[in-house]
Amino acid sequence: MPNPKHKHSKSRRDKRAAHFKIVRRSLSLCPRCRHPKLPHHACGNCGYYRDLQVIRIEEE
Ligand SMILES: [Zn+2]
Repeated sequence: MPNPKHKHSKSRRDKRAAHFKIVRRSLSLCPRCRHPKLPHHACGNCGYYRDLQVIRIEEE
């Protein structure tokens, strides 16, 4: 089995985190309640996805 010959230093290992950037996720508006939501996800406000209620939202 191929294996790394030498252990990477903590410094080298932790430098990998430099590539973990914060990405700004795009938002779409819910066609039902105009609430911003993630694309291809059910709306967190009304619980609807494509005219179908998929999450029950408790109303107060
Ligand atoms: Zn909605």
